[in-house]
Order: sequence, then C-alpha cells, then structure tokens
Amino acid sequence: MLKRFLGGIHPKDSKVYTMDKVIEMPPLPSEVVIPMSQHIGAPCTPLVKVGDIVKKGQVIAESDAFMHSPVHASISGEVIKIAEMPHASRVSCLSIVIKNDGLDEWAPGIPLHREWDKLETKEILDIIKGAGAVGMGGATFPTHIKLSPNKEVDVLIINAAECEPYLTADYRMMLEYANRIVTGVKIAMKVLGVSKCFIGIEDNKPEAVKVMKDAFKGTNIEVVALPTKYPQGAEKMLIKVLTDREVPAGGLPMDVGVVVQNVGTAVAICDAVVSGIPLIERVTTVSGDSIKEPKNLLLRIGTSYDYVMDYCGGFSKTPEKIISGGPMMGMAQFTLDVPVIKGTSGILALSSDVVNSGEESPCIRCGRCVKACPMGLVPSMLSILGERNKFKEAKEEYGLFNCIECGSCVYTCPAKRNIVQYIKYSKAQNLAQSAKK
Ligand code: SF4
Ligand code: SF4
Repeated sequence: MLKRFLGGIHPKDSKVYTMDKVIEMPPLPSEVVIPMSQHIGAPCTPLVKVGDIVKKGQVIAESDAFMHSPVHASISGEVIKIAEMPHASRVSCLSIVIKNDGLDEWAPGIPLHREWDKLETKEILDIIKGAGAVGMGGATFPTHIKLSPNKEVDVLIINAAECEPYLTADYRMMLEYANRIVTGVKIAMKVLGVSKCFIGIEDNKPEAVKVMKDAFKGTNIEVVALPTKYPQGAEKMLIKVLTDREVPAGGLPMDVGVVVQNVGTAVAICDAVVSGIPLIERVTTVSGDSIKEPKNLLLRIGTSYDYVMDYCGGFSKTPEKIISGGPMMGMAQFTLDVPVIKGTSGILALSSDVVNSGEESPCIRCGRCVKACPMGLVPSMLSILGERNKFKEAKEEYGLFNCIECGSCVYTCPAKRNIVQYIKYSKAQNLAQSAKK
C-alpha cells in the first residue's frame, strides 16, 4: 500500500494548455548559445576557439573536475564568439556561440548502434558520462555519478510524477518515447545491479499510466499511479510514498538504498548508450496564459527563449513573469535573451491574472506554511530568521538545510512572504561562512 508524505498542497495543475500537444521540432535557429555550466558541479572549459568549425554532437567543452558533465555542439557551424552571456539560472555564464551552417551535420561516428546488454557496467557509465547526460527534471546532477552510488542500493525509482503545474514534457515523452524509456530504465537497472524498479506517475495523467503499464508489461518493473499532491515529484517524497523509507536529514537517497532518476533522463541514457547520441536537445513545455500557442517542443540546447516565444506566436497578453522551469520551483527571468539548457523543463509566461503578486507583509502567524511544509519545518521562522540575518540559528535550530525549496509554504502564505528567497539567502550565507572557515 502507498504511504503518504506530510503536508503538501494542491495547486491547479494548469496542464490543459499543452497536455494534448504532440512534441514538435521547430526549425533550427540561426545560432545557439551554449553555456559552460548546465549541470551541478564545476563549469566546463571550452575546447574550441573562435573561427573553429564544429559538428553536431562534437564535444566542445570539458573539465578535469570529478563533478561535471561535458558539453557538446547542438548544431553544426562556426564558433563565432566565446564570452560571458546571460544564463537562465545564474546571472551570466561563459558560453560558446555557434553560427548555424544550415547543414545539421553529425560529428564522425554519430549516430551508431550498440547492443547495450553486451556492454560491461564500466563501459556503459563511460558512455553516459561522455554523452553529457544529466538529470533532466531540472536538477541537472550528472547521471554517471548518480548511477555510481558508493553505498548499497536495491531500488531504482523513475520520477515521472511531473508535479509542477503547467509542465507536460515528461507526460508527452511517456506517450511518445515509451520504447526509449523502457530501454533507458533497463540500462540504469543493469548499471545499478538492482532488480526492483518503480515508475511513479501522478494519477492526474491516466493516459501516461496506461501507456507505461503496457510498455513495461512482462517485466518486474512496477508502474505506480501516485496521488496528485505537490511536491510528489521531490525525491524524498517519492521514496517515502513508494518504499516507506525516510531519507535522513542531510542524507541522500542512496543512504536508504535508493537511486531516483527522471523519466527524461531514461531517454537520454537510451540515446547515449544505444545510439551514441549525446545530450544536445531536450523536450521543453512552453506554456502559460500569456503564450499565444502553448506547445511541447524538442529544442536544441542553446536555442534562445526569444526564438522559442516567437515560434509559439508571441504573447497573447502582457506577461507579468517569465519563468524557467515550473511556477513552484522555477526561476524568474529578467530577459528572453537566455538559452535553453539541459535542465530547461519548461518556459512559462504568466500574466498578472495568475501570478501571486503583491506586497510582502509581516507574518501573521497563521500557521498555514507549517501545515503545508512536506519536510516538517517551520517556514515562518526560517523567513523571519533570514530577514533578521540570523543564519546560524536558522541552520542549527530550525533545520534550514532540510528545506527542499519546494515553495509550498509561499503558495499558502496570505502575507505573500518570500519565504524561499529568505531560505536560499540564509543557506548561501551559511555556506559562505563555512567556506571562510
Ligand atoms: S520551501 Fe522549504 S520550508 Fe517551504 S514548504 Fe518547501 S520544504 Fe518547507
Ligand atoms: S503562512 Fe505566512 S503569514 Fe502564515 S505563518 Fe506562515 S509565514 Fe506567517
């Protein structure tokens, strides 16, 4: 029987805009801007220089650091610039600009075909690393590292909950890329050496549950319909609901014998291992009440938001907010001059009709945020301590670092307090203090 997690909220899912929109591939842009940082870990260093001619799938940036993921050209053409450029999740980032030559030519040796079940685990991990695969749900943790836990694991969970409102990229992949998902999941299980695997999908996507159940029929992989409740797709919640195991405070899923991978990552694993295709494109939902024609798009890494918006017919009304990712955990953007990166699950344009705007006011101690917090924290206190620069107290007495930044507290707060911003600020201050020491 499924377990339940504490707290959580039920925001309107707003998936109706794009749920039935088949994944489309727009014409390629005239240039792409490829950032050196698209993963958790050290940024890569360019291996090319201005004037070089590159092919699609060619490695153009690497790093010597353990925690990194290489970066590939997403189109063929000429490198015309290497400079700091705007980035969707940081202010700016060193980026390689490639001018499209219109040929869309693969680098030598891509694609190819491999019999994945004849490969050794080490070979598979090297292929996944070389392909630049990262967590596609937005977390962008390098996949080869996640698939090499240094603790015993016995369960793989495929996160197909897609609990963020508006986003339907995972949903469409489940309907349209089922075979690649099946292969990617089997490869991940082989690498981890596990025989137990759950595919967790929220029950507001019955069609995806049906397609996945059919696709995994005859295997020991269990497709589970989960109650729709945000943040069902957070790793700790999924693990609790599917296995009744609790990741300890400050711990990782592998501490309780579990590895969690996003369903889109399973597709990336299949493409890398079976076809030799590196991560140069991704499915992104473009949605919101300000978009004229909401869509699910297969976009090359480096395509600008501006180009994407144009392809979707522009704005039907003035957007109050442009968000990279979902409305709960995504990042508000200050410009459309940013490129799609490996973690861009969605691009949303929301008008003032749906954005919870308004002035922040003092906490009225209503307790709604406490009830909503899935981690059992006291978000009101964390926000007050952040506001008063009491970072150490937030960490030591109120479990600051257990916050998963899900935004459930903000969603429920009648005083419109920017709780997550205070929490992020307090975390950053604590980390800076530790670094100084
Ligand atoms: S953002 Fe943090 S404090 Fe707020 S509800 Fe989520 S886990 Fe709790
Ligand atoms: S929901 Fe907002 S107003 Fe209510 S206790 Fe939490 S922070 Fe204070």
